[in-house]
Amino acid sequence: MTYPPQQPGPYGYQQPYPPQQPQAYGQGYGQGHGHGYGCEVCGAQPAAPVTVRAHQGMVVIMRTLTRRGVYCRTCGLAIYRKMTSETLVTGWWGLFSFFVTPFIVLGNVFGARAALNRMPEPYGAQRPPLDPGRRVLRRAPAMLVLTPFALVAAAIPTLFLIGLFAGDGKGEKAAFSVGDCVRNEAEWPEQQLEKVDCGSPLAEYRVLDEPTCGPTDHLLRAEYSMDAPGKPGYCVTPL
Ligand SMILES: [Zn+2]
Repeated sequence: MTYPPQQPGPYGYQQPYPPQQPQAYGQGYGQGHGHGYGCEVCGAQPAAPVTVRAHQGMVVIMRTLTRRGVYCRTCGLAIYRKMTSETLVTGWWGLFSFFVTPFIVLGNVFGARAALNRMPEPYGAQRPPLDPGRRVLRRAPAMLVLTPFALVAAAIPTLFLIGLFAGDGKGEKAAFSVGDCVRNEAEWPEQQLEKVDCGSPLAEYRVLDEPTCGPTDHLLRAEYSMDAPGKPGYCVTPL
């Protein structure tokens, strides 16, 4: 979809999308050097044909705005930065737009921006060039869009580390295995068990490898029996 030229539109461009000048593209522009053709905004050289797109999502409808022209590096970057930043704000608001917008942005970055960055500084302007302003990444829209990604990117390793340490702590405290000696710091049936050396006078019980507990045994709670597969839990027998 192209933008209707008779409307000024939300972009406030000075003029509707300039009429194409296909005859001017014929030679020389491919290398990014103007052979007598200046930037159509300021007249500077070198200038090259550049295509920049913007996207607007409007819940169910959407439109892609295309601006093509012969621009110098300065004016081209100004147009690229403005349209890309606006896309980062207006692009997401629709089912399809949400998926289209990344392609529009990446198309601008790896298309127009890459081509413009390869061009030398312009000279010989006859009219004031457009103001390129700040880089896209240093404008509010990019920051708004990228901040959640940055937070998620920072949160994943943090959560992973927290999980790692929390898991380690639990693993050391609980989960006895067969033959371990333990003592109960609480009164049965309360369980506040600690693993102790079997030769120590503090040892009260030994963890059994039995499917059922005897009359004087106690069944350990699940958190202490994580290594007991296929059983309700370990039994401990008094020493
Ligand atoms: Zn220019």
